[in-house]
Order: sequence, then C-alpha cells, then structure tokens
Amino acid sequence: MARHAPRRPRAGEGGRGGARRRPRPAPARPRPAVLPDHRRVVVNRSGHRCEHHPVVGGRCRATEDLQADHVHPHSRGGATAVENAQALCRRHNKRKSARVPWDWQLRRLAHRRAAYFPPGAPTAVVRRPQRPAEVTSPTPA
Ligand SMILES: [Zn+2]
Repeated sequence: MARHAPRRPRAGEGGRGGARRRPRPAPARPRPAVLPDHRRVVVNRSGHRCEHHPVVGGRCRATEDLQADHVHPHSRGGATAVENAQALCRRHNKRKSARVPWDWQLRRLAHRRAAYFPPGAPTAVVRRPQRPAEVTSPTPA
C-alpha cells in the first residue's frame, strides 16, 4: 500500500497556477541548514576547530560541538555548498546569525585557512558557486 506523503499547503498557495515552481523536483522535507555530509567535510578541513578568528586575539580554540555555518547566510542568498561554509562553535555560530560578511573578511578567512586546511583543499569562500546542481535562487521573503 503506497501512501502519499501529504504536502502541507502554505497560506496563499493552493491555486493551480504554480508559476514560481522550480523545474527540478524539490525535496519533500525541509532542507537542513547544511547537509550532513557537507558538515563532515567542513569540520574535517577545519582541523576540527572553530574557524572564528577575530581581528584582535587568536583563533577560537573550541573543538567540540562544531557546526557548519554558511559564511554568506543562506537566508541572504548564500549557497548551500561547502565553498560557502565554515566550521563554527555553537557560540560563534549563534553570535554571527545572519550577518553578511564583507569581501575583505572572506579574503582574510581564505588567507588564514591556508595554514590549517588540508593540502589541496580550496580555501576561498564562494558565496554562490556556479554549479548547476547546487545553485538555487532562494525566493525573497
Ligand atoms: Zn568559536
């Protein structure tokens, strides 16, 4: 017996003129902030240490409870991709919230990453990698 997963209609939706529908089939469940395998990659390449590095003082020493954070927040148009991710401890992830970083901050992060990323791993932060499978244009809220 095949059960159809019921799809909750959103407010204001329900007409049959779904013009804003994406051509690709969307996942049925809400997408997690960062995909689990992305998190593993992001935490591994960070050396299992928070990547927060203030201008004054050294890099955060937290090595536990690391979360994969979108450097350019997903809610502000950043891609869900490892190129746009960094490992942050819970405290720094919370503090950062949805702030959009400046370009110089991304360059600074990339520069510092060269010291601890595995050899060959790209250090640059790409807010929206040009990769058809990953690039999504979030609908403006
Ligand atoms: Zn931290």
